Amino acid sequence: MSIQYVKGVGPKRAAKLKRLNIQTIEELLYFIPREYEDRSNFKYISQCIQDEKVSLRVEICGYPSKSRPRRNLSILKLPVKDESGFANLVWFNQDYISNQLSLGDRILVNGKINRRGNEIQIVNPVFEKGEGNKVGKIVPIYPLTNKLSNNEMINIIKNAIRDHIRKLPEILPKYLIDELNLLPIHDAIKNIHFPQNKAYYLAARKRLVFEELLVLQLGLFLIKNRTMEMKSGIKFSPTKDMDVFIEDLPFQLTKAQKRVFKEIEVDMESEKQMNRLVQGDVGSGKTIIAILAMFKAWKSGYQSVMMAPTEILATQHYESISKFFSKYDIKVSLLTGSLGNKEKEQILEDLKDGKIDVLIGTHAVIQENVEFNRLGLAITDEQHRFGVEQRAVLSQKGINPDILVMTATPIPRTLALILYGDLDISIIDELPPGRKEIETYAVGVDMIDRINKFVKKQVLEGRQAYIVCPLIEESDTLNVESAEELYLSLKDNVYKDFKIGLLHGKMKAVEKDVIMNDFKDGKIDILVSTTVIEVGVNVPNANIMVIYNAERFGLAQLHQLRGRVGRGEYQSYCILINGSNSKISRERMRVLQKSTDGFYISEKDLELRGPGEFFGTRQHGIPDLKIANLFIDMDILKIAQLKSKEILEEDYLLLDEKHLLLRQTIIDMFKDRIDDLIFN
Ligand code: ADP
Ligand code: MG
Repeated sequence: MSIQYVKGVGPKRAAKLKRLNIQTIEELLYFIPREYEDRSNFKYISQCIQDEKVSLRVEICGYPSKSRPRRNLSILKLPVKDESGFANLVWFNQDYISNQLSLGDRILVNGKINRRGNEIQIVNPVFEKGEGNKVGKIVPIYPLTNKLSNNEMINIIKNAIRDHIRKLPEILPKYLIDELNLLPIHDAIKNIHFPQNKAYYLAARKRLVFEELLVLQLGLFLIKNRTMEMKSGIKFSPTKDMDVFIEDLPFQLTKAQKRVFKEIEVDMESEKQMNRLVQGDVGSGKTIIAILAMFKAWKSGYQSVMMAPTEILATQHYESISKFFSKYDIKVSLLTGSLGNKEKEQILEDLKDGKIDVLIGTHAVIQENVEFNRLGLAITDEQHRFGVEQRAVLSQKGINPDILVMTATPIPRTLALILYGDLDISIIDELPPGRKEIETYAVGVDMIDRINKFVKKQVLEGRQAYIVCPLIEESDTLNVESAEELYLSLKDNVYKDFKIGLLHGKMKAVEKDVIMNDFKDGKIDILVSTTVIEVGVNVPNANIMVIYNAERFGLAQLHQLRGRVGRGEYQSYCILINGSNSKISRERMRVLQKSTDGFYISEKDLELRGPGEFFGTRQHGIPDLKIANLFIDMDILKIAQLKSKEILEEDYLLLDEKHLLLRQTIIDMFKDRIDDLIFN
């Protein structure tokens, strides 16, 4: 039903509500407050302390006095009392209030305490005569942006609840509500807007979070190709040669690497299929972990495949992996889109015949015509660039091969649980020794000249620099334009005596490779780029990363970009050009200056920007959530996950009467990906 049926909502308000994505009464009822102000805590005047926000029951005990200390400032004072003492209500520039109150009125007020000597003031209080919306309650604060006041919203929602809540369906089956002791939907909605008390608020929130996460989890389980059951897999054999291989490495594994590889070994040697996510910050040494696992697979007579998101990265892996395996009779091949037809066919044939032991590549490795002889291990690097579906396709290239997923994007555990269903998680929480800390500076645009001078000086000493251009959200085309523009202006002006290159996502893979290789070989001094260099690129001689409009990026992303430098022996620098003056931007930049810990950084980003804007849920294909917070609702998520599995075991297509509304809600939540759902 349209919101216009709600009392108090005419065409004008309807238009404003529409801008908040509220068009139906249901959407209105599910419009969740951003926070609450607890005005239910009553005190006596004598108990009040400085700066405290309190509610008081007072009686007006004198006449108002007005003063005008400055031209545009008027002060209204009204004396009040309760059993414990006297105070003054004080309003600035709101003289009209004196007409609303008279001597002897008993009112409820809520405001902040200001003590001035013996005088107790309550400054700009809200007040009401008798019971109302404003004082004495836990008051919802809505996330409003346009011209709609919080008070208007409160009234609209009150009316909607009073007149329409009966029509709101209960989508959760009764047995679940009983079993988990959840509030029924009507109580939950009433209390999420107007909590009777804290306990009711918590119960209401729990119920709504559970509902949302259940629907989300069911939907994700019902996306085609997603496997949820534990399959039996390959049992790789233990081998002494593993120790020899590790001994022979040019470095000692870190403790964290050893621990993580142990976890992988246990998985590989068990008869269950491995499904493991390895998270580790940029530079923590994930590649070697993949290499060890591939070595183990080879020892047991199986093929391995490793998929990387870009051609640059695949090539880089191919080169370094070939080196590590050079002493052994391990055949490593590289398969990418830019390969010539003849070479490609040869690789496909050899792969099928089992002549290739390790295949490295881009998306090319999941094409239909790619067939393995005995695929035992499938690895995806930088998983956040791939969808769940691609991982599934890769694993279908063998008979339940072990799966290893590697990512440098620190994902809070809850999100990982949701995204990767039943992946086990290993974390490399330690960097190899001897890394030089990258010096990070956040500067304003007025510093650009000095930055340019600094870059020139470093380049003259033989170093190289990355310059990342402003991120323009939601538009690749604009990003390319901004990169080209920046490139041209730098090339013809400040850096006209230097070799400068451009890299962006719209370039063909071969073009990108040429540029990247030129940069690697030192034929380019300064590389202007979009975020395509974010992932995995390794040029040890590059020691400066300059990022324009750094405030537009997610902190996790900035951290990744910063990880492109600090890979060689030279002191490295990351310069964040902050184009914004806002306090939050400055704080966000400070987080990066202070910390090099990816997990800490991503958590801080979340705290400062809120989950809505946090990197990636969109990119991960997760629909927007209204109330659940993937970062804090871990416990409820676990229950929702368990229950969704139980529900699907009993009623896979949700066709049972008691699950029909749930099914419909899933379809609504996943309307953008409807074709992926198994129902279709
Ligand atoms: P990432 O986790 O970002 O993928 P890499 O696997 O590319 O990191 O490793 C970064 C660099 O560190 C590589 O040059 C690698 O050879 C090196 N490295 C990895 N592990 C160690 C270690 N234990 N000691 C010293 N260097 C290491
Ligand atoms: Mg890597």
